[in-house]
Amino acid sequence: MLDLVTDKVHDENRQGEAFAPFVADPNGYRKRFYIESYGCQMNFADSEVVASILNNEGFGATRNVEEADLIFINTCSIREKAEQTVRKRLTEFRKLKTRRKDLLVGVLGCMAERLKAKFLEEERLVDIVVGPDAYRSLPTLVDEASGGQKAVNVLLSREETYADISPVRIDSNGVSAFVSIMRGCNNMCSFCVVPFTRGRERSRDAESILKECRELYNTGFREVTLLGQNVDSYYYIGNTNNGEHPKPITFADLLDSVARISADLRVRFSTSHPKDITDEVLHTMAAHENICKYIHLPMQSGSSRVLQLMNRTYTREWYLAKVDRIRQVLPDCGLSSDVIAGFCTEEEHDHEETISAMEYAKYDFSYMFYYSERPGTLAQRRYKDDVPENVKKRRLKEIVELQNRLSFESNQRDLGKTFKVLIEGDSKKSTADWMGRNSQNKVIVFPKQGTELKKGDYVNVTVTDCTQATLLGAINQPLGN
Ligand code: SAM
Ligand code: SF4
Repeated sequence: MLDLVTDKVHDENRQGEAFAPFVADPNGYRKRFYIESYGCQMNFADSEVVASILNNEGFGATRNVEEADLIFINTCSIREKAEQTVRKRLTEFRKLKTRRKDLLVGVLGCMAERLKAKFLEEERLVDIVVGPDAYRSLPTLVDEASGGQKAVNVLLSREETYADISPVRIDSNGVSAFVSIMRGCNNMCSFCVVPFTRGRERSRDAESILKECRELYNTGFREVTLLGQNVDSYYYIGNTNNGEHPKPITFADLLDSVARISADLRVRFSTSHPKDITDEVLHTMAAHENICKYIHLPMQSGSSRVLQLMNRTYTREWYLAKVDRIRQVLPDCGLSSDVIAGFCTEEEHDHEETISAMEYAKYDFSYMFYYSERPGTLAQRRYKDDVPENVKKRRLKEIVELQNRLSFESNQRDLGKTFKVLIEGDSKKSTADWMGRNSQNKVIVFPKQGTELKKGDYVNVTVTDCTQATLLGAINQPLGN
């Protein structure tokens, strides 16, 4: 159980998910590629961009690794465990490669960026290494590697946002999609490898984001999640044709515009940095029913001293005041967090402060990790990773147990309430039940009750029971689409 939790990333269910082609395959492809993704939602969204680039160059996707000419693995570096998972998967690909000499293996994403050409020395089966800003060069790199050369492109860019590329949607539920609105991160949290693997922060052209969201809505999608490492610092200055100074577009402006596409299109976003989420964003959320009342607001630690070492730029008090403000403006807002146990120098009383801050914030949900030192980060260069592993694990266990209780209590507070739910598909356990989410991002399972509903429909559901992870309910009144 602890292992599962310690390695938890943004969507645990999707780790290692393989790309599934949607369209009937005419067999006319140059080569077939198989792509598998690990890590955060950004990586999954990137794999959709990669699939689109490869498709446009005449490569076809397959979900069957055995029939692939090219295997890509989109990697994560955030914790050591994430990298170990990728290494293990590569060992499995090695077996395939001994059988098929012409098979090419490519490593994409954060681990490719972190290790660069070193990857080719460490893992001899790897033919192609591509960083997150170099996916446009993939077709050329594949050609090079097909000619027997090793191919590497790990250049980071200050401009690349892949704004003009329409991602091929891997998420086959056809209801919810991720839309990347920015790339990179300028924050330099001392524990984090992301600024080194994904480069400087840059915001994507607002018009291209709106176009993508409109297209998604028109093809039947009913929920978009705007993605970035720090969405609240979205800032885009476009061009005007009339010679006037263009007006900068903030995250609140963008949210407002996406919400106006249709009242039937739900809008979510992730992730918010507590220092950047503004009152303007909160008021925009309040103004639109279809902007989901849910904020992922990672705290990391409840101790101001540790937060300073983490370079998070806020104190415990400042963070908790932000929680108060959210509850004031959006009384029914769901709240979740990321928490790290056992960061450098963390003492027992610091850990207690994390526990008490979590109690105060009453998170509905948290992603919880123990600290994993990452090469090249500020923390690795400046501080000693001095909390023993058994202490890190014990503190993490306490944090997880607390969150389990908070989640259960939060779900119990929902008993008897009625929520508008967007149906995502059959429940995992039974095709007699639907599974959907409410605005607060809680999963609700309820019997189909012979109604004519389909996925992508909205329905009112009254909560009748709950577990720690799921609300259980009954249809109150179908809303149609
Ligand atoms: N940009 C987001 C933010 O600041 O909230 C999160 C990005 S990161 C992909 C997701 C989470 O991984 C972080 O919020 C943090 O809790 C965790 N994380 C990052 N580096 C870590 C490390 N070295 N050890 C343990 N957890 C880490
Ligand atoms: Fe990493 Fe901090 Fe940037 Fe999040 S905000 S990606 S934790 S550096």
